[in-house]
Amino acid sequence: MAQDNTIDSIAYLRTALPIMSQYDIPVYPQNYAVWYEYVSGTNIPLKQAIDDYIVQKKPFTNELNKTLYFEHVAQADEINMRNLQQELMATLSAVQGNLDEAGNSSTQFEDTLNQQSQKLNDNPDANDIKGVVQVLKTELKTIQNSTQMLQLGIKENSQEIERLRKELNKAKEEASLDPFTGLANRKTLMSCLEENIKHSQESDEHFSFLMLDIDHFKAINDTHGHPMGDKVIRCIANTIKNCVKGNDLVARYGGEEFSVILPNTPHAGAMKVAENIRQAIERTKLVRTVDKETIGRITISIGVAHYRTPENSEQLIERADSLLYKSKTGGRNKVSGE
Ligand code: GH3
Ligand code: MG
Ligand code: MG
Repeated sequence: MAQDNTIDSIAYLRTALPIMSQYDIPVYPQNYAVWYEYVSGTNIPLKQAIDDYIVQKKPFTNELNKTLYFEHVAQADEINMRNLQQELMATLSAVQGNLDEAGNSSTQFEDTLNQQSQKLNDNPDANDIKGVVQVLKTELKTIQNSTQMLQLGIKENSQEIERLRKELNKAKEEASLDPFTGLANRKTLMSCLEENIKHSQESDEHFSFLMLDIDHFKAINDTHGHPMGDKVIRCIANTIKNCVKGNDLVARYGGEEFSVILPNTPHAGAMKVAENIRQAIERTKLVRTVDKETIGRITISIGVAHYRTPENSEQLIERADSLLYKSKTGGRNKVSGE
């Protein structure tokens, strides 16, 4: 059934009902058939007859409606019977298609469908069939609308969920990083440390923890200015990051101090990683972009603590810090560990 037919039918229905109400005509199928045909304008003799009665201000009694029906509608219905039946079948299959799409969730509609089918079983006359078609047309439109709304709703919901998911991930990532260097922040470091301590206490896999502090950094700030000091911090952050593997965590502990967690890493392995970092930083040549002048050698001191049960995070940090201090007092640009 063409979409236009459905739209027209609903438009006729909307037009016919107020007119029937205006002339106090009960909405019986027979009466409705008369006024539906009147507003559709397809039944010229009927339209002419009614218009004449309206001009004459003749009340549309039940009697008059009946006459109009038998004189102008019943016969036409007999002629149109075949068309109506075809239209009905097309309507039913369109409805079925929509129902399938809508997940067949409309119980109310199923009831209507059953009622209308029952009417068709009870020896229907042309008017009954017309009534059934009309009801189904209206129901079909409702189902089509709700299906469209449903699909639109699902699409909008999933787009909204996807947008929120991305925003949430972004916010989570931002909250876990130090914006200045892009390394993990102190909060992330602490929760990762707790996780590793828990894991070490429950298994034989012990991790190592490194504390790092740039040597004589005050002098870099004093000589080259604070903005240059900032650039040095970012550069060193990158160098440290490039010296570790995917599972390892590099964090900015604060200022020009960094921490590294090396999961499931024995003491000797951790000392090796620390030594690699120390050498990589020592090798780094920093050049000022403005005048291409080299910034003096930058070094770092490191303390390496291999986790010992039942240490807590505070005790481990303290131990790593005192090993770092040992590197400082031992001449800087050194790695100390235990
Ligand atoms: P040491 O070898 O003993 O570590 O000497 P140091 O000069 O590096 O001393 P310390 O580590 O105690 O001080 C670090 C200085 O780094 C203090 C502060 O002025 C500077 N600093 C801390 N955070 C930042 C930062 O984000 N940017 C810059 N430019 N400087 C920082
Ligand atoms: Mg410091
Ligand atoms: Mg320092």
